[in-house]
Amino acid sequence: MAEKIKCLIIGSGPAGYTAAIYAARADMKPVMYTGMQMGGQLTTTTEVDNYPGYPDGTDGTAMMNDLQKQAERFGTDVRFGMVTKVDLSTEVGGVHKVIVDETIEIEAETIIISTGATAKYLGLESEQRLIGGGVSACATCDGFFYKGQDVIVVGAGDTAAEEATYLANICNKVTMLVRKDHMRASKAMQHRVEKTSNIEVLYNTELDEVLGKDVVEGVRVVNNQTKDKKEIAVTGAFIAIGHKPNSDLFKGVLDMDEVGYLITKGKSTKTNLPGVFAAGDIQDKEYRQAVTAAGSGCMAALDAERYLGALE
Ligand SMILES: Cc1cc2nc3c(=O)[nH]c(=O)nc-3n(C[C@H](O)[C@H](O)[C@H](O)COP(=O)(O)OP(=O)(O)OC[C@H]3O[C@@H](n4cnc5c(N)ncnc54)[C@H](O)[C@@H]3O)c2cc1C
Repeated sequence: MAEKIKCLIIGSGPAGYTAAIYAARADMKPVMYTGMQMGGQLTTTTEVDNYPGYPDGTDGTAMMNDLQKQAERFGTDVRFGMVTKVDLSTEVGGVHKVIVDETIEIEAETIIISTGATAKYLGLESEQRLIGGGVSACATCDGFFYKGQDVIVVGAGDTAAEEATYLANICNKVTMLVRKDHMRASKAMQHRVEKTSNIEVLYNTELDEVLGKDVVEGVRVVNNQTKDKKEIAVTGAFIAIGHKPNSDLFKGVLDMDEVGYLITKGKSTKTNLPGVFAAGDIQDKEYRQAVTAAGSGCMAALDAERYLGALE
């Protein structure tokens, strides 16, 4: 027998928990399935310095534990589990069927999808080991910690160019590693990079190794044409080769862009199906911050509440 609920929240990052707080306070009795990464991406970082309300900064896991407690205080039913299949209704007022962990059946009147996006890394052992110790996939989040220092940015697209110009305002020198002999970024972004005096672009160059035991002390790079290797002394290595939105479950069902980000309507969190809403990084390739994810989580709960209200 399927369990029948008003509101299902998929994912336990800042978007999911904020949606839960609002949905629970609106008496929608939300059930949240957390996914494998309880608390979402922020649980992989120790320092969150830019979330409002924490004057001394906070630890990512501690912050997400606080959000969970707040959501539970109003009655959110937080459950560990992965949504593994969806059968979404196309009718207004229709019931959305969801399978959790291949076995549990849920029927939900509304669904808030907040499954986030995962930063791509190169996969080097040294890179993985030093995530949080100088390796980062988010200049907006971590750039401040490298004020006045030398850093590298790996990548050649718009995001890499944006991260490099953002870091150039804070850091002493930014070296961009571009694998090909040209950048993929738009002409306008390339122009900004070229005009920034403290950015050096190394073409045909790849990251060979991140150097350092507990923190980044430098990088070894390799020219993929000449095979020459050299070391660059840096304290930060920003990997900007893209993100993968966690939207595979919804392929062919919900509208998404070519990368897989869910498309929401106008300023709302409405997807193309009635009663299905998307919040956080899963629908936002522009900002990808905890506070913007939380903001859209709030919007999704309000959109869901209004959708249910209109059915009555
Ligand atoms: C290392 C690092 C440091 C960062 N530092 C900062 C910072 O200092 N400040 C800042 O504002 N932002 C920071 N960010 C960005 C911030 O973490 C994200 O913007 C934010 O977490 C996005 O929130 P979200 O709720 O959309 O998704 P996420 O936090 O990505 O959470 C997604 C959730 O969905 C769940 N999920 C996925 N698939 C399923 C499924 N099939 N079923 C059930 N659940 C599922 C996952 O388990 C997870 O709980 C950082 C990111 C990283 C990686």
